[in-house]
Amino acid sequence: MNDMDLNEKIRRLILDSNTFLLATHIRPDGDAIGSILAFGLALKKIGKEVTILLPEGIPQNLNNLPGNHTIVKSIKPAEEYDVIACVDASDQERLGELLVGKKIDLQIDHHITNVMFAEINFVDPKAVATCAILAEYLPIWKLQIDDQIATLLLTGILTDSIGFRTSNTSSKALRLAADLMDYGADLPSIYQEALVGRTYQQVNYWGFALQRLQKHGNIAWTTLTLADRKQADYNGNDDADLNTLLSSIAECEVTILFVEQKEKHVKVSWRSKPGIDVSQIAFDFNGGGHFSAAGADIHGELSEVQELVLQKSFASIADQSKSQEIK
Ligand code: AMP
Ligand code: MN
Ligand code: MN
Repeated sequence: MNDMDLNEKIRRLILDSNTFLLATHIRPDGDAIGSILAFGLALKKIGKEVTILLPEGIPQNLNNLPGNHTIVKSIKPAEEYDVIACVDASDQERLGELLVGKKIDLQIDHHITNVMFAEINFVDPKAVATCAILAEYLPIWKLQIDDQIATLLLTGILTDSIGFRTSNTSSKALRLAADLMDYGADLPSIYQEALVGRTYQQVNYWGFALQRLQKHGNIAWTTLTLADRKQADYNGNDDADLNTLLSSIAECEVTILFVEQKEKHVKVSWRSKPGIDVSQIAFDFNGGGHFSAAGADIHGELSEVQELVLQKSFASIADQSKSQEIK
């Protein structure tokens, strides 16, 4: 389908429907929160009834965003909504248990590993963030951007590009961000709140993982356990953005973080320097993501998951380096 047909389909869907249920991925990040709230506010502005589902709430560093009070943690039966739409999720499992097996009418996403699970799939892997897609296309779908929506969209662009420094940062992303500033988004304050500011607990939590940091060749890895979370009094269930810190190790091509989630469930994150693809490794573990930032949720004890993931990662990275030498 070409872009025109796709945009026309989305315009029609919006115009012809009244009640919308919006969802995004579990352990939501800045792009997930920014895009769900921005899409929700934009639909509300034209009189639609919108339910913004975020079962885990909003992480602390994103808690002051416009529309944060309109979220809900539970929903009516999914069939009662005219449209179920989701943002920033590469597969349906990522939407959490409330939407298992439900028909998803529309999805907007930018993951290269997206499995096209919705009726209408607007997926652009070149986009730096789902929020960048919305910044470009909301007006094309006849939805307006105001200062609040611009703030939300810039939050997603800034967080997913880690302040315009991931390798997929494009001049287009910068132009969209500049347009969002013209709509009233305050870049320095979003930068400070969503990206730079840390809580004491968060930094303390990192400390446990940093003590166990290991390196072999050009790969470094470490773990965050449930006991660390408790001892640091960290109340999130994510990596507390430790991945960004790990990826700053200059001599490592790949960093891997293992976060114990609950018994026999480990969240694994990969980060790589340009030239090494970690999305395929994550995909092979039933996860997904981007070329240089990917993740997977894996069943098993921390130590066994760690051993298996390290083995597969070392093998894949060695293969990739070999095929680059041949070229
Ligand atoms: P993270 O390591 O959680 O910051 O995620 C890095 C990228 O991988 C993000 O774009 C995520 O959406 C994606 N990702 C993380 N975990 C999963 C998963 N279990 N399944 C699919 N994609 C994932
Ligand atoms: Mn995301
Ligand atoms: Mn994203």
